[in-house]
Amino acid sequence: MSLVFDLHTHSTASDGILSPELLVRKASTLGINTLALTDHDTVSGLAAAQSAAKKYNVTLINGIELSCLWNNKTIHIVGLNIKADSKTIIDSTVHLNYLREQRAIKIGEKLEKVGIYNAYENAKRIAAGGTITRQHFSTFLIKNGNAKNQSDVFKRYLVNNKPGYASVSWPSLEKTITHINAAGGVPVIAHPLRYKMTATKLRNLINDFKELGGKALEVVTGHNHSSEIELASNYAKRYNMAASVGSDFHNENTTWSQLGRLAKLPDGVTPVWELW
Ligand code: AMP
Ligand code: MN
Ligand code: MN
Ligand code: MN
Repeated sequence: MSLVFDLHTHSTASDGILSPELLVRKASTLGINTLALTDHDTVSGLAAAQSAAKKYNVTLINGIELSCLWNNKTIHIVGLNIKADSKTIIDSTVHLNYLREQRAIKIGEKLEKVGIYNAYENAKRIAAGGTITRQHFSTFLIKNGNAKNQSDVFKRYLVNNKPGYASVSWPSLEKTITHINAAGGVPVIAHPLRYKMTATKLRNLINDFKELGGKALEVVTGHNHSSEIELASNYAKRYNMAASVGSDFHNENTTWSQLGRLAKLPDGVTPVWELW
């Protein structure tokens, strides 16, 4: 039987809908042999995911999705196969969650200026102790009747130049890569084609990433087309990067998100799991 990998997923420890245990159970019923839990800026779901993985006979890779800045742009770097008790990683998650809390308060204040009250309190309640993200504001704004769906709510409220946007001074790409390497993990550029960068910019990002100690690109992600997979795998080959596969599963409604339902890696790229 061939091995099925999904190396980018979210749980209630950040903005996923399933608890770590239910996520692992679902992965197991879908025939996923190797699952990475990669919550935004936290490792708090990993212990529960590991014990569920034993119960459901899944190999659970300890992961994280770290927010960082490169050339003033927010980039997500997935760290795979990290030591979950790494002090470097834990310290950085404390800082990142502080930044997120400050931003969430700001988002709440900004929404209040356009007549939307208690957004921070509601987003916080929806996050239920997990890392607070714009996804939680999105859930509240839809429930509150301010937008009809996720893509609508992001377009109208939660992105730059819109009423519910607040920028964050995330740590640098360099620091982020260093932290993942210090924790024994593999740094991966998450969803490289989702940043809406020009080809030149993306090449510069990959170049810098590699020079700073980055190791892999997410070549197959949730809902990309075969042409995008080919493009991303060509970047991986050209820059001698390993290739990862991850759905970015959050819930059943997000377009890029069906757990484990992923295309195969193209021939000629090195699968990221060969690095551990
Ligand atoms: P944050 O890291 O707090 O800025 O929030 C980013 C999260 O918001 C992503 O991981 C997605 O879950 C969600 N998100 C961002 N942009 C969109 C979008 N255009 N449509 C739907 N969800 C989005
Ligand atoms: Mn998310
Ligand atoms: Mn991401
Ligand atoms: Mn993600």
